Amino acid sequence: MNKGRSRGGKGRTHGAARSAAVVPVDAPFQKNEEVTVDIIGLTHDGEGVGRADGYTLFIQGALPGERVRVKVMKVKKQYGYAKLEELMLSSPSRIEPPCDIYKECGGCQLQHFDYPAQLEWKRQHVVDNLMRIGKLSVAGEGRAVDGESASTGIVVRKTVGMDEPWRYRNKAAVPVGASSADGGLLAGFYARGSHRIIDMDDCLIQHEHNDEVIRVVKRIGRELGAAPYNEETGRGVLRHVMARTGVVTGEIMVVLVTNGRKLPLVESWIERIRRELPAVKSIIQNVNERDTNVIFGDDTFVLWGSEVIYDELDGIRFAISARSFYQVNPAQTVALYRKAVEYAGLTGTETVIDAYCGIGTISLFLARQAGRVYGVEIVPEAIEDAARNAALNGITNASFEAGPAEVVIPRWRKEGITADVIVVDPPRKGCDPALLETILSMQPERVVYVSCNPSTLARDLRVLEDGGYKTVDVVPVDMFPWTVHVECVVRLYRE
Ligand code: SAH
Repeated sequence: MNKGRSRGGKGRTHGAARSAAVVPVDAPFQKNEEVTVDIIGLTHDGEGVGRADGYTLFIQGALPGERVRVKVMKVKKQYGYAKLEELMLSSPSRIEPPCDIYKECGGCQLQHFDYPAQLEWKRQHVVDNLMRIGKLSVAGEGRAVDGESASTGIVVRKTVGMDEPWRYRNKAAVPVGASSADGGLLAGFYARGSHRIIDMDDCLIQHEHNDEVIRVVKRIGRELGAAPYNEETGRGVLRHVMARTGVVTGEIMVVLVTNGRKLPLVESWIERIRRELPAVKSIIQNVNERDTNVIFGDDTFVLWGSEVIYDELDGIRFAISARSFYQVNPAQTVALYRKAVEYAGLTGTETVIDAYCGIGTISLFLARQAGRVYGVEIVPEAIEDAARNAALNGITNASFEAGPAEVVIPRWRKEGITADVIVVDPPRKGCDPALLETILSMQPERVVYVSCNPSTLARDLRVLEDGGYKTVDVVPVDMFPWTVHVECVVRLYRE
């Protein structure tokens, strides 16, 4: 999914007003007051932005263009939160969310917003970030001709959506907990804005295989009397279950994340998973004893089967191990990577650096059309996968190194490696400033920036622009339908 971010999560902030938890003096409303508001936009979290008496209220579930009656729940100086009570004027883009647990679950945020409107909103969200944070000017959507109207500003193209935007995820990682009713083991998603676990058997954005794995593993856990982990006390064994499916190959990996090395009845676990889920090729245990939101701990070992599963993207085969990042929406990933390769503008002779390369996915797409590709990635297991993946596909012009991109690439430069094109695909926090500096001093002809976070993208583009690069066009690709997340591919030229 989106990189390095856990679902749910405690607390949130709305920019500048973060510290305004004091008694409100300017708020025109009291807690529990009922108000009618017009919705003028959506926040990056997908909440409706309501304006009334010059005051801003954030309202979960309200859509732009709607008039709603709300109950004020929380008042701060600059803004407040309110609960949707009644739709007085409904948006034409409002739809009935198809998922039964949508209201409780924190996984999706936009199931009440129809798909075309969602794609348009995602594009606009990218535009707003480029302008507000990056102080960049945007020309429009552009026409069929690439690069057109670049002189008047950045072309931000229409969001590339899915024809069938359901069941797209190849990976499910769900927390395990105890039912408050009977203490029984449950697994699902954190409720919106909390760490209360909502039991989940059928997730409409998840591949059916993963849903089945979660259901079966949960049942096995109950039948074997496995103790669910308790976040408050730090007791219990089973913390998370992860299922990953190679959508093209049908291979499945199951990862049991445990609190401590010992998994009672481990042989029964293995025997039952193998018997009840024959497509499973790999059963992995990961040990996480820390008091943390991060799913995985450092210690990973094979309980049964292979250390990796395989999948294919656009005819390239990939080995994927438990800890490696692998895009969750394979159909859209192919669209994303093809765009990245197109923007790299390769003729067959170029040297390309792929920073934040993961298991070498983009690197191998690039290698088919470049002279030489160097990939760098911080997770050593992912680099092992990347090297294996190059060999697996008979690709000999790509090499990989483990380490922080901001350290390894400057060293490469000292060793005499210069790049014609640099591709970056950082996690949500964006590129390290030292990496941006290295790009500016290496002076590649083109930079391709793949981003899962429009705000850090906008910040980094500003740095590249100030250093002599011109942002030509941006394509938002919808990797995560029904959620607020947007992925983008950006093309920059050296001026
Ligand atoms: N391009 C890959 C992976 C993108 S996700 C793909 O499309 O599959 C971002 C990757 O950056 C993750 O694999 C993460 O482990 C890695 N990463 C995070 N910080 C890094 C750093 N400082 N240097 C290099 N890689 C880093």
